[in-house]
Amino acid sequence: MRYFIGNWKMFGVPKSIGILNKINNFVQKDKKRQKYKVIVAPPFTLLDSFSKYSNNKPVSISSQNCYLKDGYSSNTGAISAFMIKALKTKYVIVGHSDNRKEGDSNLILKNKVIHALKNNLKVIFCIGENNKQKSANQTFSVLKKQLYESLSSKFNANNIIVAYEPIWSIGTGKIPQDNELIKTINYVKKILYSIFKTRKTIPVLYGGSVDSRSIKLFKDINEIDGFLIGGASKSSKNFIDIIKNYYR
Ligand code: PEP
Repeated sequence: MRYFIGNWKMFGVPKSIGILNKINNFVQKDKKRQKYKVIVAPPFTLLDSFSKYSNNKPVSISSQNCYLKDGYSSNTGAISAFMIKALKTKYVIVGHSDNRKEGDSNLILKNKVIHALKNNLKVIFCIGENNKQKSANQTFSVLKKQLYESLSSKFNANNIIVAYEPIWSIGTGKIPQDNELIKTINYVKKILYSIFKTRKTIPVLYGGSVDSRSIKLFKDINEIDGFLIGGASKSSKNFIDIIKNYYR
């Protein structure tokens, strides 16, 4: 099973449901649809309508984040995993580098994962090193720390997906070399095994400048279980072309 996850970030208004509709129609008719799962992550403002639309359809909906407290609270502008689940949204992205940059520590992210899992949301947990860390050969130690400090063997591994997103690759057009990427993905899988000790492997996705052209570079890398796609996911054509080119 491969994942194609579109992260819309701060993009989309109610009429953007037309994009979701086109993606869904493609998946519904695609003969290869059993091979993959498509998830779209719109902003909070569209979660309700998109989740309603997606009921009984192949494309699922993800939130882009959730708050570090659950239930209801007096935090202005905050949205909890409980509130997201109430919309019948199925997934939540936690730990995107945008949010880490704005102050989400590994401990805060651990709380978010706990709340998300408690509410039966599936977690798309993002990790990745920045340019400086990569240059200093710290990639593995950074990823290990991000995983060890936010995930725990007590968590339900069946509801966790990990997305490896090197920060230097997000939105830059820069892509890791094949051999480097394979080594890193295998390392992440090794760490996940050491945390969860489960035979059921947690899917590990790649994210960073994936588009309809670059996807061709990844399709022979069997270790990658799917893709988290930012910029190219905001156009139905670009997003659909990524899936088509992956299986072509
Ligand atoms: C992202 O923000 O998660 C991402 C991968 O962005 P892009 O595809 O635009 O590099």
